[in-house]
Amino acid sequence: RTPVPSDIEVSRSCVPKRIGQLAREVGLLSEEVELYGQTKAKVLLSTLKRLKDQPDGKYVVVTGITPTPLGEGKSTTTIGLAQALGAHLKLNVFACVRQPSQGPTFGIKGGAAGGGYSQVIPMEEFNLHLTGDIHAITAANNLVAAAIDARMFHEQTQSDQALYTRLVPSISGVRKFSDIQIRRLQAQFDITVASEIMAVLALTDGLGDMRRRLGKMVVASSKNGEPVTTDDLGVTGALAVLMKDAVKPNLMQTLEGTPVFVHAGPFANIAHGNSSVLADKIALKLVGQEGFVVTEAGFGADIGMEKFFNIKCRYSGLRPHVVVLVATVRALKMHGGGPTVTAGVPLPKEYIEENLQLLKTGCSNLGKQIQNARTFGTPVVVAVNAFKSDTEAELQLVIQLAKEAGAYDAVKCTHWAEGGKGAVALAQAVQRASQEPSNFKFLYNVELPVVEKIRIIAQQIYGAEDIELSPEAEQKVVVYTKQGFGNLPICMAKTHLSLSHDPEKKGVPTGFILPIRDIRASVGAGFLYPLVGTMSTMPGLPTRPCFYDIDLDPVSEQVNGLF
Ligand code: ADP
Repeated sequence: RTPVPSDIEVSRSCVPKRIGQLAREVGLLSEEVELYGQTKAKVLLSTLKRLKDQPDGKYVVVTGITPTPLGEGKSTTTIGLAQALGAHLKLNVFACVRQPSQGPTFGIKGGAAGGGYSQVIPMEEFNLHLTGDIHAITAANNLVAAAIDARMFHEQTQSDQALYTRLVPSISGVRKFSDIQIRRLQAQFDITVASEIMAVLALTDGLGDMRRRLGKMVVASSKNGEPVTTDDLGVTGALAVLMKDAVKPNLMQTLEGTPVFVHAGPFANIAHGNSSVLADKIALKLVGQEGFVVTEAGFGADIGMEKFFNIKCRYSGLRPHVVVLVATVRALKMHGGGPTVTAGVPLPKEYIEENLQLLKTGCSNLGKQIQNARTFGTPVVVAVNAFKSDTEAELQLVIQLAKEAGAYDAVKCTHWAEGGKGAVALAQAVQRASQEPSNFKFLYNVELPVVEKIRIIAQQIYGAEDIELSPEAEQKVVVYTKQGFGNLPICMAKTHLSLSHDPEKKGVPTGFILPIRDIRASVGAGFLYPLVGTMSTMPGLPTRPCFYDIDLDPVSEQVNGLF
């Protein structure tokens, strides 16, 4: 099996089983499944009702150390671990992952279906339209924009001045949405996956709740400074109609035929970066008490995992049994002082040759992220995602230091090169860890003042000395508190490339003051999001985007250029 072919070649080499067959295998009834061709299906929410008395399976969240810009293999490990649990240990399993945005797919990432022999297939379907959920969200967002526009226009032209004279649209409400980043053409576009409606989809637990959340979105203010919601604009019912199919999780499969839910894809910066609560809930029922659901949290443990616990678990009521923390030798060497790692540029020699010193120094970041996970009271298993250039001494050093730092266990994994077989040791460690007592606790009480909640995250998770609010952010705290939104959980919009706000600071930065530039509210989704430092809410396409290489072969009808 060496060398490992490209992701798309591996994906295409495998014939997926018919999705209807997989649905039957996992215990879904035919009336609970809507087929979208042979490889994708939507699963109806009525499944949850039918299985409500069934005990939940074990809940595993996959997170990572502070990554390089290349990614350290969280998606790959989520899929590899699910393959190991399902196809090798023969346990019931589901992997739950996010739907990728076309922005990164056509920009720099190429795809997000995992990699090597641990992938969701077919990867073209996974990475492109899937079943149209993101398009539904784009349509819903644009309807909100149209509703605001119409209200403003008619208020100006009609003599009986309606409720909201001089409506002042807020950031999220007035913008038009597109699933690809457009920076210059139209200054008021936002990327769909960063929209509040995407976060609502990810956090909702049913149709009634989704409608309520959609109606609570604050999209403008009145001339008196009162918040104006989608309910006020009368557009909530129409939004719910546009979203009625998107709310159903999408069933796909791994290369080894184990089931995957692909559902929702909120950005991990200005949203919470986790796949949907509904997919996790249905999967936990379907696998049964002895089964496992492996779900992924975006970015590093300081961001995706912190939000997984404090936002997603707070709303879902679900409690994970195990945290899997993915680490790589290359990222740890970078934290130890290795040269900059850049996407598309060959790795400097420090990353290709053995260097135990850099690695040992860089393990400080691993130690801090293990501690961060343990703050929530859940056992941590470190998955050392092995690359071809890693030496055995390097891999063993990471395992030893992870255990010394408080991990329940740490194991070498080779699922990228070998598929589920390469994650059997990880699966066994996860199975053992899931028997451990969990003393889960949230990091903060939502009733604390806004500033206090931000400070707790900054100091306890990022290791900041303190926080500093800009005058604008301070004013927002006053406004949101007055409007009654002060008790929402916090969704920090911070760079994922450092524990601090400065992407250049590697390892475990200390002594820094975390600057809070502004604070915004996603009231329907249910969080406040502070913007940290210069964090951009609108990533752009690179000078040579992936879309240059993407094309359709008119004869074979194959999509070329995804990788
Ligand atoms: P993340 O989810 O953490 O961003 P991914 O799982 O998407 O990371 O992996 C990032 C990229 O690295 C993918 O292209 C994947 O195929 C590749 N990759 C992951 N693990 C390995 C490995 N062990 N060896 C080689 N490439 C890998």
